[in-house]
Amino acid sequence: MTEVFVVAAGANKLTYEMLTLARSLGEPSAVVLGAPGTAASIKDSLAEYGAAKVYAAEHADLDAYLVAPKAEALAALISEKSPAAVLLPSSQEGKEIAGRVAVALDNGLLTDVSALEADGTATQAVFAGATVVKSKVTKGIPLVTVKANSLTPQAAPAAAELVEVPVAVSDAAKLVSITDQVVEPKGDRPDLAEANIVVSGGRGVGSAEQFSVIEEFADLLGAAVGASRAATDSGFYPHKFQVGQTGTTVSPQLYLAAGISGAIQHRAGMQTSKTIVAVNKDDGAPIFDIADFGVVGDLFKVLPQAGDEIRKSRQ
Ligand code: FAD
Repeated sequence: MTEVFVVAAGANKLTYEMLTLARSLGEPSAVVLGAPGTAASIKDSLAEYGAAKVYAAEHADLDAYLVAPKAEALAALISEKSPAAVLLPSSQEGKEIAGRVAVALDNGLLTDVSALEADGTATQAVFAGATVVKSKVTKGIPLVTVKANSLTPQAAPAAAELVEVPVAVSDAAKLVSITDQVVEPKGDRPDLAEANIVVSGGRGVGSAEQFSVIEEFADLLGAAVGASRAATDSGFYPHKFQVGQTGTTVSPQLYLAAGISGAIQHRAGMQTSKTIVAVNKDDGAPIFDIADFGVVGDLFKVLPQAGDEIRKSRQ
């Protein structure tokens, strides 16, 4: 069976999505680029989602410099194994690695892909999701970066045979070193990109203090908190929680938008949610066009009342 590379983004949903997608093209082999020991620590979860092999391209230098050593190691492995395609995460790092590999190997590259057919035809949503583009790499081994939350990962246990890959890092790849890494403390709420339920607030929330009404409702449902760009730009909530074209793409089972008008750039990041609930005091707000359930009303009345009903139903 043809081998398809999946450049692992860690033991997380995006990696499992890529492994699931790769299975429609051939037999997935995960490629782990990192410091020694990284592949062994995530091998079991890669096996669960169908990795027949796990290439451990490991070297201390891969985590000590910016992306150049990883791109170099990946390009070398692609040249050696000639897989049918290479899937990478559509993260900043993933796209930069893909770009460098595309130049090094003179290969075609498609970014921010949300679906991939067995013949390699890729789907991209452009102009804030207003236009869907279908395209195909016509030169070299297709490099494809996959957008998070594009599909539901399906487990399909496989062997995940560990294959050590010798890595040589050139001096040219060591021009920018990482001097410090700061890991932001993680709260108790689920990760926004991976949450099953997201409760988001917009400009209609009015202030940073009043965002507690969104947080309380989210905590009641065990949800992640999101925000519109107007809310983050106004300082109501940190930018990293922005949902939309220039923020995080989410695709939860339930997305609740409170005080959000539903601009096309916001919709681009949440319109594939399974069920969309909107609370807005303007019955003409565009968010109602895509909502499965809409409540026309003041969010400061609707959310606490809904919260009371949920608590009562749990007694
Ligand atoms: P508004 O459009 O001001 O809507 C506020 C809503 O709250 C209104 O519908 C109002 O009726 C309602 N409301 C007010 N008070 C209450 C209340 N008490 N109860 C209930 N409802 C109430 N936006 C994003 O969100 N994400 C992005 O990633 C993003 N990227 C962008 C990229 C570009 C290049 C550009 C140009 C714009 C981008 N935007 C993005 C901005 C986007 O165009 C909108 O400006 C933004 O989404 C509006 O946010 P909002 O709905 O919170 O605010």
